[in-house]
Amino acid sequence: MTFLAEAFAVGTEATMRLTKILDGTVSIRSEMSNAVISFSEMTASIVAVVTDVVRDGRPVVGFGFNSNGRYSQSAIIRARHAPRLLKAPSAELLDETGENFDPARCWAVMMRNEKPGGHGERSAAVGAIDMALWDIVAKIEGKPLFRVLAERFGQGPADPNVYVYAAGGYYYPDDDLQALRDEMQRYRDLGYEHVKMKVGGAPLATDLRRIEAVLEVVPEGQNLAVDANGRFDLPAALEFSDAIAPYKLMWYEEPGDPLDYELLARVAERTTTPLATGENLFSYQDSRNLVLYGGLNRETSFLQMDPALSYGVVDYLRTLDMLRQHGWSWRRCIPHGGHQMTLHIAAGLGLGGNESYPGVFQPFGGFADGSEVKDGYVRVPEEPGIGIELKSNLYQVFRELLASG
Ligand code: MG
Repeated sequence: MTFLAEAFAVGTEATMRLTKILDGTVSIRSEMSNAVISFSEMTASIVAVVTDVVRDGRPVVGFGFNSNGRYSQSAIIRARHAPRLLKAPSAELLDETGENFDPARCWAVMMRNEKPGGHGERSAAVGAIDMALWDIVAKIEGKPLFRVLAERFGQGPADPNVYVYAAGGYYYPDDDLQALRDEMQRYRDLGYEHVKMKVGGAPLATDLRRIEAVLEVVPEGQNLAVDANGRFDLPAALEFSDAIAPYKLMWYEEPGDPLDYELLARVAERTTTPLATGENLFSYQDSRNLVLYGGLNRETSFLQMDPALSYGVVDYLRTLDMLRQHGWSWRRCIPHGGHQMTLHIAAGLGLGGNESYPGVFQPFGGFADGSEVKDGYVRVPEEPGIGIELKSNLYQVFRELLASG
């Protein structure tokens, strides 16, 4: 299913314009489940933003998608954000040089007449378009996005080598401990030092057996993180925290509802395992509330906000600025999503790393074809833009989208 919005002709001045915004819905269904949802109906939005800027004889096109976990946002993109961008005069979308688009100004246009608060699905629609706009900006500059981000917003030089950990360990219909051990061993063999598994979807004793099975194939507890996907109420979250304390795990992720800062603060008071959360917070404002009221320890906790789900890089930069004001190192940020966009952000802005889903959430999960993980690090290619063209199964869905429009 695709959609084409054509730009209105604006003015007579020769200036760069967005000429089309195409969007489509891609299935990323699978049979796996976490503690709260099955992925049997999961979809994502893809967005191609076409410009009249020509590089190498072809119009520059930006590609974006909304990570994984929140379904396609077509209706919102088509009804609100894409038409606003296409109707806006170029002067409202360009930076002060007039020689490139300004994603922050585009963001303001996309969010025109949107009331604050209630960051549910809209944030993923904007996140997908924002990704495509940054792809355009970097392609016009002729640089990989991480270098553009480092030059504009970085706290130091860009580092193309990014720490990644392998996330998996889902509940499958035919779950068994040997399959789980084999999966985690496969990640270790691929070059990952750290792995993450799902918990909270089975009785505590079963989850502890699953954790102990994985501990047989990783060197120590520090190589394993667990993710409850917000499943527990306070008593269960505390019981689980106490039960895993002896393993000295890498982190304990989303023990309770992502917006229940009181629960998180109570767990934080008691747990000896570092906490990780943030993938279901979709705005700067929610992240600020987390930092103010979630009781997290800025020396040990991990923050996992995913810009593709949460209003894109423009809003993520506000979050990073807020973190700096509250004394947090950006190294505490390891975004959710396991995709190329967060890899660029991590490399350009000096985050702590990036999630990775080897073989899962295709075609969005994973990095450029042939990317190798070595000692837990992966290198971002120097291709201009995000480099979606370097990931053949992902580029294929965008080629089909462009062909349809
Ligand atoms: Mg998670």
